[in-house]
Amino acid sequence: MRTGLSEDLIARVLGAAPKYTLGELEKKFPPRNLPDGAMVTRFAPSPTGYMHLGGLYQALIDSKLARQSGGVFMLRIEDTDTKREVADAVRLIIDSLHKFGIEYNNDEKYGPYYQSARKDIYHSVAAELLRTGRAYPCFLTADDMERIRAEQSAAGFATGIYGEFARDRDITPDEIIKHLDNGAVPTIRLYSGGDPEKRIFCKDAVRGSIGFPENNEDIVLIKSNDGLPTYHFAHLCDDHFMRTTHAIRGEEWLPSLPLHTQLFRMMGWQPPMYIHTSTIDKIDDETGKQRKLSKRKDPESNVAFFLRDGWPTGAVLEYLGNIAASGYEESKMKGAVKNFDEYEMRTKKIPMSGALFDMKKLEWWSREYIGAMPVADLVAAVTDWANEYGDDKQKMQVRDTDYLTGVLSIERDNPRRIRKDFITWKQTLEIEEFFWDELFVPNKEYEYNRDALNAFLSNFDIADDKDTWWNKIVEIANRFGVKNGDVAMNLRVAVAGRTNTPDLYSIMQVMGGTRVIKRIKALL
Ligand code: GLU
Repeated sequence: MRTGLSEDLIARVLGAAPKYTLGELEKKFPPRNLPDGAMVTRFAPSPTGYMHLGGLYQALIDSKLARQSGGVFMLRIEDTDTKREVADAVRLIIDSLHKFGIEYNNDEKYGPYYQSARKDIYHSVAAELLRTGRAYPCFLTADDMERIRAEQSAAGFATGIYGEFARDRDITPDEIIKHLDNGAVPTIRLYSGGDPEKRIFCKDAVRGSIGFPENNEDIVLIKSNDGLPTYHFAHLCDDHFMRTTHAIRGEEWLPSLPLHTQLFRMMGWQPPMYIHTSTIDKIDDETGKQRKLSKRKDPESNVAFFLRDGWPTGAVLEYLGNIAASGYEESKMKGAVKNFDEYEMRTKKIPMSGALFDMKKLEWWSREYIGAMPVADLVAAVTDWANEYGDDKQKMQVRDTDYLTGVLSIERDNPRRIRKDFITWKQTLEIEEFFWDELFVPNKEYEYNRDALNAFLSNFDIADDKDTWWNKIVEIANRFGVKNGDVAMNLRVAVAGRTNTPDLYSIMQVMGGTRVIKRIKALL
């Protein structure tokens, strides 16, 4: 091991003396006082734009594992890539989690939770590495890097800063001072002791132990342009000091696992248990092949889509839960659990590839979900949606809560025969448009039996109970020598404009006598 830098030089290299020693950091962020088996998880998005469905999937797994084990789920904003940052992205993430009802618990003690506010921590750890010769300031310029890359490519070597190409590995204090005096700002690089001829074994909760060639790259720990850490270094410091027990992240990070394992071992810290989640896929409409959701082609890749179109967020989560825990649906069908909350998911069963998200399948979850809602909750959900996302028509439909409640109560009283035709809040209001005079379109195509309609009107009383009402219909059918169902169909089309509706008696009860009479008269 090389000798490290003096405190003076560390302060100059980092721009300021480090605020903490490692010991102080350990005390400041002590191991959490939680019961055995409690999982500490975090959702760690980079605020680079919209919230992807895959992010929601991860956040759901994070929060579920923490909750079911009596642990803690945190939201950490990984805003160290100032170049890729998008205004408003953080608000979008927080808002999406909130709307999907995924709650995090950012205990002040382990914060701050914006990486940009954690510089002191990263610099303190970097200082320790500089002090002990496990990291060094590197003054390679962009031009130097380009030259090294060209040289490596020409010779057929792997590109990167490693071994003999890591020019500043053994830089002397005098050389450092010279660079600094010239106004150069270094990156801080890892002095990698890895040898790609050797293997390092890393753990993933789903995949088990995986062997990789050791990492020999002197990767950047602290960037020169803004003094912020790279993802790798931030992950090391944050997941250690936030006391994360399970790091759930996208499979694109799997190739970095040997590096991360190396970093934790170098520090003598216990790495979190890793869970690398699969991308969210779909079956391509044209090719019939499974592929990743595409930001450009698939509106459902953006969670805002589900909110805008009024998909029940609970149903989206139930379905995502079933993707993450494939035994869940079966358990629910057997009646062993009512919802994903009650189901105990297992880390080992999280799929490692090909998680398929099928909008048709979501429709099923949605029908079931809405079917199980008490009507008051359904009314509230539809109303909230219309007021936030609906158009003027939809806002009008939710204005009279009593009327809307009546409309949505139809065929919900018998638990064994609850209607399952509602899929989204938006489509629910669309299906029911005929209840509102402003939206009702009379069906003028239908060939009505005028005699039957006239007969119905002459003897109609909204106060009739269902049997009395039906007996009157039977009587009309007999009188004109037609089927009972024909008379009912005439009435159905007259009041609803279409041949397919829920229970006709209930529809008339909800509409009220005046409206029923007015609609039938208008057709006659
Ligand atoms: N910011 C990283 C990402 O968005 C987080 C990965 C992780 O969860 O560690 O991919």
